[in-house]
Amino acid sequence: MTTKPVLTEIGAKPLPQETHSCWSCGASFEMMRAAHFCESCGKVQPPAPSNYFAFFGLPPKLNLDIGALEKDFYALSRKLHPDLSAGSGSKEQEWSLEQSSMLNDAYRTLKDPIKRTQYLLHLEGVELEEQSKSATEKARATGEVKKQIVPPDLLEEVFELNMHLEELRINKKVGDDDPALFEEIGKAKLSLETKHAALLHELQTYWKVWDGVIDRGAEASAAERVQVRDKMVDVLNRRNYIRNLVRDVNEAMEQ
Ligand SMILES: [Zn+2]
Repeated sequence: MTTKPVLTEIGAKPLPQETHSCWSCGASFEMMRAAHFCESCGKVQPPAPSNYFAFFGLPPKLNLDIGALEKDFYALSRKLHPDLSAGSGSKEQEWSLEQSSMLNDAYRTLKDPIKRTQYLLHLEGVELEEQSKSATEKARATGEVKKQIVPPDLLEEVFELNMHLEELRINKKVGDDDPALFEEIGKAKLSLETKHAALLHELQTYWKVWDGVIDRGAEASAAERVQVRDKMVDVLNRRNYIRNLVRDVNEAMEQ
């Protein structure tokens, strides 16, 4: 049995070591993550149930080394490429396809800070996208206006902006042009975009708290975990609210 070093050291604490035996050559090897290919003969292994973090041998932490992730992604892409196992029996090629597709999904999700956070929240049982999707569908089905809770710190700004947008719509209808109003809306939009960007920084402060909870393992209480989870949900909800609002403003300005 030959042991190759694990592809990358991501700087996280190693996960508990497990041993895996290759289906093809029987070699057993210790692994830091789900075994995607045999370290001895290189054959692709059957996909094991895994989440995107575990797929890369990572703990479910939010601060991650994107450079190391990218390197690991390319190394795994080469090992798992379905062309390598073409004609080598449908079973192995099927596994290659499954593993490659999970690799691509995992990489695409983890490299993006927002998608990574949403995915972690999904693992924690929170479905942000679904929440808003089902609310939109329900609103469409019933013909009601989708009720969105305005983040308290935006109440005044949103109230004023909606009045200006209404004015703009009326102006357009009667063919009036009000450059001052247009400028006012542009300013409000800029302010929203600044807040949207700032929310990523706010989210990152909670990443630190979350990673601390994971690092402390059993020492951290369940209440702490839920508390920081809910903070992140709140930031993402506010961020989505602003994103939708900016989209509405853009539409109103273009018409
Ligand atoms: Zn093997």
